[in-house]
Amino acid sequence: EEDAMSLRKSYKGNVTGDDIPLPIGSFEDLISRFKLDKQLLKNLIDNDFTEPTPIQSEAIPSTLFDRDIIACAPTGSGKTLAFLIPLIQKVLQSKKHAKKKSTGGAVKGLVISPTKELALQIFNELNSLNTKLGLSVAYLNKSLSGKLRNGVVKGSKFDIVVSTPLRLIDLVKNGALDLSNVDHLIFDEADKLFDSNFIEQTDAILNACSNNKLRRSIFSATITSSVEELANSIMTSPIRIIIGHKEA
Ligand code: ADP
Ligand code: MG
Repeated sequence: EEDAMSLRKSYKGNVTGDDIPLPIGSFEDLISRFKLDKQLLKNLIDNDFTEPTPIQSEAIPSTLFDRDIIACAPTGSGKTLAFLIPLIQKVLQSKKHAKKKSTGGAVKGLVISPTKELALQIFNELNSLNTKLGLSVAYLNKSLSGKLRNGVVKGSKFDIVVSTPLRLIDLVKNGALDLSNVDHLIFDEADKLFDSNFIEQTDAILNACSNNKLRRSIFSATITSSVEELANSIMTSPIRIIIGHKEA
């Protein structure tokens, strides 16, 4: 515990909220504390992700404890893995559970990004972490959206979907994509998603994710007042994680 606290001090992490979990000092910690899938750990190491960055040290355990989080850390600080690692682990666990109960497939994880370029980057990182894990993951590009709309591909075959807001809402409105089983929703670059241009779309997505066990994560380089406001209105006892810029 002392180690964890000095770790938090070392990167000047400001973490607030009720019952905050201790940060992880290494990805291996996730094996003992959360039974992280061993292949997922291997995939991290194979990609040269040997040590967690500060935002990863804090955001991963909070998410794995099923907490809503608001995470703020500078550009380039590793926010993508900070949400993808716990997302993959959670979806793997819920699939194992579903197999036992032999319930059907459904979209469990949803990542929203304001631009196609960023969404595609997230999807590529998700794909490489998914090596040998066998999750069915999708990026809603134009071609896949078309196939979903005309029924050539069923939305329920995907475990995790990465999308920009408009594409997603279009498919939900058409009945081509059901988000009612999503239990993990991530907003990346939330300062953009929660500003006035996007807010209606973000609201529509929140309404479509009707599962009452839904957990929400908000990631951004800057947390604006509109992000704070919306976060407070949609989240239950969130943990706020603020990682400052590295000092020279
Ligand atoms: P952000 O979203 O905070 O701007 P990214 O998630 O895009 O940052 O990560 C920035 C870069 O850091 C990427 O090239 C990514 O592969 C790399 N990176 C992320 N986490 C780690 C890690 N734990 N170890 C080494 N490199 C990492
Ligand atoms: Mg990012």
